[in-house]
Amino acid sequence: MLPFKLVYHPRYDLNLGPHVFPSQKFRLLYELVLQEGIASPDDIVQPGSAADEDLLRAHTPEWVGKLKTGTLTASEIMKLEVPYSPELAEAVWLAAVGTILAGQRALCDGFASNLSGGFHHAYSNHGEGFCAIHDVAVAIRRLQADGLIKKAIVVDTDVHHGNGTAHIFRDDESVFTLSIHQENNYPAHKPPSNLDLPLDDGVEDDEYLQVLLPAVEKSLDEFCPDILFYVGGADPFGQDQLGGLRLSKSGLKARDKGVFQLAHGRNIPVATTLAGGYARRVEDTIRIHANTIVAAQEVANESAPARSAIK
Ligand SMILES: [Zn+2]
Repeated sequence: MLPFKLVYHPRYDLNLGPHVFPSQKFRLLYELVLQEGIASPDDIVQPGSAADEDLLRAHTPEWVGKLKTGTLTASEIMKLEVPYSPELAEAVWLAAVGTILAGQRALCDGFASNLSGGFHHAYSNHGEGFCAIHDVAVAIRRLQADGLIKKAIVVDTDVHHGNGTAHIFRDDESVFTLSIHQENNYPAHKPPSNLDLPLDDGVEDDEYLQVLLPAVEKSLDEFCPDILFYVGGADPFGQDQLGGLRLSKSGLKARDKGVFQLAHGRNIPVATTLAGGYARRVEDTIRIHANTIVAAQEVANESAPARSAIK
């Protein structure tokens, strides 16, 4: 039994068929965490349907309407890089509600993981790079609208820059965006995050962690967010087909655990999302995502440091 909830829906699958994005990964991850006893069925919560109102806090009515009615232009579908289907639209709607639910649960339990989401390339008025709806932006705006949080930080460790996140929150001082990514990779245009940590090709575990963790620590101390949304891409992995960094599975788990420890030590709730992962063997992608949940469990079970004792 986990000390926090996992959010999952059977219709998270993006219905892509044969595609570099393994859209069956959501189901495979769900099955793996149950099979291995990482989670029990009681640990899983299922998102309901999304209100358009929630999506419209992060997206234009035109874009939401096009996704609902399947009226994307050819150039919009090209930018999205995945075929449109009603199933895709439903899956991204569910992912957005799932990330809202993960945020709500994280505020109660300290952690929560959506077994989807992290669609960080979605802009307010169009989709890009397999991302149609920016679930994290939708969730942050919903928690703010409900008065549950004021400030949020997005820590994006996907190998690709969080361009949609940076753009959506560019003028929003209540949200701090941090992206660590391979500089020489998609997207070509990288609007500035509050803090960008661009890496050279081929960076390995030690260098990665030495760049990431002090930057997260400083950002948490200076910004003092009410919640941390984690975009935990599996694609900095050395065997990834769309990434050019060389992290190991254990390095990726240390990445997750390091970020979670910094948040947990400051009593900042963490909601995790999956984002990308294109390893040659889909089992590797699933394992890396499962390790994010295990890392959160290990940190949740550590007692928070007695902050009053630190003089
Ligand atoms: Zn990615």
